[in-house]
Amino acid sequence: MSDCIFCLIAEGKIPADIVFEGANVLAFRDIDPKAPTHVVIIPKRHINPLNDLEEEDILVIPEMYMAARAVAAGEEIDQSGYRLVANTGPDSGQEVEHMHWHVLGGRRLGGMG
Ligand code: AMP
Ligand code: ZN
Repeated sequence: MSDCIFCLIAEGKIPADIVFEGANVLAFRDIDPKAPTHVVIIPKRHINPLNDLEEEDILVIPEMYMAARAVAAGEEIDQSGYRLVANTGPDSGQEVEHMHWHVLGGRRLGGMG
């Protein structure tokens, strides 16, 4: 998708602070961090967010989990704790229409609510 900001990052067309790269996934620092560690994990291929997820898209999810684990270890928040967030739809504040997870940590994150 030519106008998708995360596709452009995956294609190297706009810069990002990449912290992990796997065969099919990429992890980079969020430009507007909400915690000391705030990393975004994406599939390199454009995949729509959860509501439009297709059966074949599910194959990338194990790799996204392993990327989250590697990011947490690399950021040294694996023991202190972290949160994986997948915003979906207007009430969540989702902005980007390319499937992604946030890895948040490095501070006490507070309750869900
Ligand atoms: P969401 O609100 O779940 O759609 O998350 C999108 C996230 O992408 C937000 O936290 C933005 O700060 C982040 N973001 C947008 N553009 C960029 C960019 N060029 N590089 C890094 N993060 C970005
Ligand atoms: Zn995209």
